[in-house]
Amino acid sequence: MKRFLAIIVLFVAVLTQGYSQRKIVNLPDLPGFITLKCDFHSHTVFSDGNVWPTVRLGEAYRDGLDAIAITDHIEYQPKKDQIPTDHNAGYNLIKEMAKEYNIIPVHGTEITRSMPPGHLNALFITDANALVKDSVYDVIETAVKQGAFIQWNHPGWKSQEPDGIPKLYNIHRRFLKNGWIHGIEFFNDSEYYPNILEWCQEYKLAVMANSDIHGIISERYKEPEYTNRPMTLVFAKEKSEAGLKEALFAGRTLAYFGDMLAGKEEFARPFFYQCITVGPKYHETSKNYYFDITNHSDIPFYLVNGPKGAPTSITLNARSVTRVVLSKAFKGTLTYDVKNVLIGTDKTMKAEIKF
Ligand code: ZN
Repeated sequence: MKRFLAIIVLFVAVLTQGYSQRKIVNLPDLPGFITLKCDFHSHTVFSDGNVWPTVRLGEAYRDGLDAIAITDHIEYQPKKDQIPTDHNAGYNLIKEMAKEYNIIPVHGTEITRSMPPGHLNALFITDANALVKDSVYDVIETAVKQGAFIQWNHPGWKSQEPDGIPKLYNIHRRFLKNGWIHGIEFFNDSEYYPNILEWCQEYKLAVMANSDIHGIISERYKEPEYTNRPMTLVFAKEKSEAGLKEALFAGRTLAYFGDMLAGKEEFARPFFYQCITVGPKYHETSKNYYFDITNHSDIPFYLVNGPKGAPTSITLNARSVTRVVLSKAFKGTLTYDVKNVLIGTDKTMKAEIKF
């Protein structure tokens, strides 16, 4: 019996200490900043999601994230007959456990209105229950007074904007004038909205990418189709809630999903050069130079529209080395359009390759 008890005790010890594993997301830091991988839009049973809040934490850990926000709808609670109304529950249920996972929990909620203004997430709030108000102006004003970062969600969602193209309505202009919008989703799940990039430039807003997950994340984003869920890459001075918040309000972000990166050129350009290493020439013949480009990141890069006399296109597969053969007759600079790095509505980033 004693031995039996000892085995039970051992089992309990193993279970409570336990261990779990997260994948490595290969995305570099920027000089002077840490790249925090974040998802600022998710749902649980406290609105129209299908999981308990702590499940979101386990998913985020396994996906290699540094921060998550549970952002249940304030105005839409289809399960309220089964689950009592408490708009702070999602955050309160994960905030202590998040420490065990080294994940920053962001206190958030989704303000859910028809277009305009559509849906907005209030992040870094102190009390979501204080945001139950009729007037959306009052809601946003109260959230901002709580210190909220306001993110405009899926601005071109077809249920609200049938042509899929985001539009700035008067109410958005008023919010922007008041400093009440701080970021816009470029990616919401697999939908994306290129024309928000100009607004983010003009109004100094953060470009965001989030899952807006309602079901099970591993069922939605499966390999080989997807290697990672949508992520907002935040370039923070330190990994902490304060560091995250400062970087978001400063607009130091990029949106990443699938094989696409979008955001302001001032961050996209150094990020691209952190992802790749262009090696020195390792061989030459009478006709050609030979060199390697290593892509350390999870994002493939498609270099197109090469200059005359150089390779027309070069694909830098994720976590791979690409061999480049360049004719000695070529004398110009090796400049390419990076097809999958978007810095404006119809504008891809240009990159120069120096070896
Ligand atoms: Zn949502």
